[in-house]
Amino acid sequence: MNRQKRTEIFRRLREANPKPTTELNYSTPFELLVAVILSAQATDVGVNKATARLFPVANTPEAILALGVDGLKEYIKTIGLYNSKAENIIKTCRILIEKHGGQVPDNRKDLEALPGVGRKTANVVLNTAFGQPTMAVDTHIFRVANRTGIAPGKNVLEVEQRLLRLVPREFLQDAHHWLILHGRYTCTARKPKCGACIIEDLCEFKDKRDYL
Ligand code: SF4
Repeated sequence: MNRQKRTEIFRRLREANPKPTTELNYSTPFELLVAVILSAQATDVGVNKATARLFPVANTPEAILALGVDGLKEYIKTIGLYNSKAENIIKTCRILIEKHGGQVPDNRKDLEALPGVGRKTANVVLNTAFGQPTMAVDTHIFRVANRTGIAPGKNVLEVEQRLLRLVPREFLQDAHHWLILHGRYTCTARKPKCGACIIEDLCEFKDKRDYL
């Protein structure tokens, strides 16, 4: 795909949604961190339901640590893998208090050292809480980048690095939100809605379909 097409794709995605953001509800970097840890293999809707109960009671490392693993589980037990997520969040809270003054660090090295935080989670927090132009490649972005030809790659790291290199600078900050939302609602895994897709004429997918 050439640069002109890629630019036009992001121009249209921006026009359709000028201020994209995560669908996870949060009001502080710490709330976002907890929500993203909880969102692994879970839906944003499910996470939002749990955090709507949890955050009014505990939304700081100190308060969640005070709940303890069992107390925390009571709020998140509707979410998959909640046992290990509860343990990771409690350990993360302890590290934040002991090493970072109770604050979420704004750099990859310290974020990825937190239990339950991998590269993708760190990318989401760096981008969404701290405004850094990172690319958190999830299953939706991986699919859209490959299908459209925006940034094809064999694995998520390859796609991440290509997107960082190929997405025009003016779109970098918000690109991952646009691609996630496009993959979640239009370029869906099994039934892409090509007939209703605003970038259909620019997309290089060979097997376009319309399942509307
Ligand atoms: S045209 Fe179809 S395959 Fe291409 S981005 Fe749109 S929905 Fe996805």
